Amino acid sequence: MTAMTKALDDLLASYVEALFPIIYIHHSDYVVADDIIDKAVKKVSASAKIFEFNNARGEVDFFTKAPRLACTLQEFLSLNADAGFEHQTFIVLKGVHNQLTLDEVVAHLKIISDNNLYRDGYYATVIIVSEKLIIPFELENYITLFDIPLPDSAQIGEIIRIFLRENMLSISDELLSEFVLSFKGLNDFQIRQILNLAYQDGGDISNADRALVLNEKEQFIKKTEMLEIVNFKETIDDIGGLERLKAWLGKKRVIFSSMDKALKFGVDSPKGIMIIGMPGCGKSLTAKATSKLFGVQLVRLDVGRLLGKYVGESEENMRKALTLAEAISPCVLWIDEIEKAFAGIGPGSGGHEVTTRLFGHFLTWMQEKSNTVFVVATANDITNLPPEFLRKGRFDELFYVDLPNDEERLKIIEIHVKKRGKWSSDLNAYSLVMATNGFSGADLEAVVKETIENAFINGDDGITTKMLENVIKETKSISVTLKEKILKIREKIQEYDITPASVNK
Ligand code: ATP
Repeated sequence: MTAMTKALDDLLASYVEALFPIIYIHHSDYVVADDIIDKAVKKVSASAKIFEFNNARGEVDFFTKAPRLACTLQEFLSLNADAGFEHQTFIVLKGVHNQLTLDEVVAHLKIISDNNLYRDGYYATVIIVSEKLIIPFELENYITLFDIPLPDSAQIGEIIRIFLRENMLSISDELLSEFVLSFKGLNDFQIRQILNLAYQDGGDISNADRALVLNEKEQFIKKTEMLEIVNFKETIDDIGGLERLKAWLGKKRVIFSSMDKALKFGVDSPKGIMIIGMPGCGKSLTAKATSKLFGVQLVRLDVGRLLGKYVGESEENMRKALTLAEAISPCVLWIDEIEKAFAGIGPGSGGHEVTTRLFGHFLTWMQEKSNTVFVVATANDITNLPPEFLRKGRFDELFYVDLPNDEERLKIIEIHVKKRGKWSSDLNAYSLVMATNGFSGADLEAVVKETIENAFINGDDGITTKMLENVIKETKSISVTLKEKILKIREKIQEYDITPASVNK
């Protein structure tokens, strides 16, 4: 903890000395926040007074957390607002985000802020610590956000070592490195919580705890409601066709797996890809297979979830989500249906102002990024997507996935039949290819599933070409059900320089 908070208390002290009236620490670990506040206060003044309000308990002693006075936030602020005239004062508010929009609370915070900025002899700084960020617009100009970064690899290693020492345990260096990687993206408190759980589980920390660690981490990340770690089995071999895209990913894997060396050599760090095209043709499958190929976790970002109702909340959520992805990295960051998140933005398009700002933020991050977060964005309909997105330079490459060609359809059928253990060289490839023109990968998978299900119900040992053909005849492919949409997607694709994912296109 000490290593982590060292530079941060200097920074917080400098904010206080520069008379920033309200400092918002958007963080859930109050122990870490207290440590930084305590050290910063000592740096600013040895005689400073700290008044703490805790949402659950009223006024408490900052150091012992013993209750001092049962009161509301309004009463607490009213009682302590003038303390800044007598001595350097810190007003610490914990978990009060839901009350920050109350008129009386806003009024008190404004008085304290104005006094701090304009009244001689008044020194009081409000420090809000909360897991949720809510900035009422009346206080927008007074509030400064203060970030506590998630621990990096060296700091995580230190947290684990301290835990092991405290519990008189030891593990190999190799296992330590693996745990460090697994804990990336979690804060100090969460890491210690998981270590405790693992320790309680078997009385030690061992290789057997790796699954538990990953599982707990997934839960923590999910709770942030910004990112989700996705688990799946598919590999690059489960994709039928898309050979150009697969070959391209294969090359990036070489760079991604020895990033340090590659960067030193002068290679640019991979940013990511955008995969555009037909529904059910392997875009999501590729996102999953990419993370398996690179040997890193797949993390999904749902931009819609980032939208908040307060000033700056959405941008802050986006910033936090991207920072979290960086902390988890190396990883593949999957943004599914990106067209829905960023559609129709920009001047004159009638799009929402907040979404436009989010989009700008994301583009800048993409442009400047030099970390090991590899973005895989997928989209069906790019009609409403801002053209800036499709310009080269944001992504390393844009790929277009069309309906599978003859060769690809056969490969896809083969993959799904083999997956279910019913492949036979007697199946007539030519007939199947001819019968499935215009089918998507998802259509083909559905055909295989149904044929095998029918065979089981009818008591057959395996499946035949005829059985597959019968189901194919009954199936309405995507080319029929989404005719208009497909035409529209193809038309739009022509306008841009987008690389076909398949070889024979
Ligand atoms: P959407 O735009 O509707 O999300 P998508 O392109 O992301 O579609 P996927 O989720 O990748 O589609 O595919 C749906 C299912 O169809 C997959 O689970 C997979 O089993 C099958 N499938 C699609 N394309 C292929 C392919 N090229 N090879 C093997 N299976 C495929």
